[in-house]
Amino acid sequence: MKKFGIAVHGGAGVMSKRKLTPEREKIYRDGLEEALNFGYQILEKGGSSLDAVEAAVQSLEDFPLFNAGKGAVFNHDGKHEMDASIMEGKDLFAGAVTGIKNIKNPVTLAKAIMQQSDLVFLSGDGAEKFAQEYKIEFADDEYFFSQERFDQLQRALKKSVVTLDDGADKKFSTVGAVALDNKGNLAAATSTGGLTNKRFGRIGDSPMIGAGTYANNKTCAVSCTGHGEYFIRAVVAYDIHALMDYKGMLLKEAVDFVVKKKLVDFNAEGGLIAIDKFGNIEMPFNSEGMYRACRRNGDETLVAIY
Ligand code: ASP
Repeated sequence: MKKFGIAVHGGAGVMSKRKLTPEREKIYRDGLEEALNFGYQILEKGGSSLDAVEAAVQSLEDFPLFNAGKGAVFNHDGKHEMDASIMEGKDLFAGAVTGIKNIKNPVTLAKAIMQQSDLVFLSGDGAEKFAQEYKIEFADDEYFFSQERFDQLQRALKKSVVTLDDGADKKFSTVGAVALDNKGNLAAATSTGGLTNKRFGRIGDSPMIGAGTYANNKTCAVSCTGHGEYFIRAVVAYDIHALMDYKGMLLKEAVDFVVKKKLVDFNAEGGLIAIDKFGNIEMPFNSEGMYRACRRNGDETLVAIY
């Protein structure tokens, strides 16, 4: 039987068990499982890994508690500036956007750039013009507003800090998905609102091909979450591929080396999800927890936080 499978994440970080009530934990778990199932159903019907990661990430973007799409954090100016990227491992095509506002599903814009132009990475107003031309769905500011996120910004403004998605809990809740389809094609996608109170057009690793997202049919597909500045400097997603390709490491060896050794030595907190061309899935993190879920054909669904 040909292996296929998908993994999703909703960010890594410090999540105090005390604050995550059983009710709230269930909401997160349900959100992860729903996104996973959207992607899995596509794979099950013989669909592509690219469509599966897009569908899973769209679902996570529509879920208000993760920091992407509808749940994106506020920047310093009280706006939602979002980043996303997507890549497919067969021909190494990729699309990415950064600093975009009012796009309902940034991952879908990234995919449209990849499929409908020969460009890869668009930013701000230009990316929004592309979205208009290619009839990508917009949403008004009200759609992205949440009292919880607004209060996070007020706390961050007061302390004059650029914080992770929840100042109190130091939680990255960027979202992502990786998948392998039954034709052996790999794909990865990542989407985020970045950091609360971010300024100066700050961009993290999430929209950067090679840093936050990478897919290559020779090896694996990877989507990261963590402190973007470090993940950019460590070129995390491509590094996993390179260790497998050039050094012949297995997926588990490569992700353990990068997440548990290299990033730790670098003082970089976070994690990633990865799937290799054989359907092996790894979801390592060096923080207290990472919202994550995965499913392969023939296996049970796994949903976990800690
Ligand atoms: N990596 C993201 C960034 O730095 C944050 C996250 O993973 O939540 O923008």
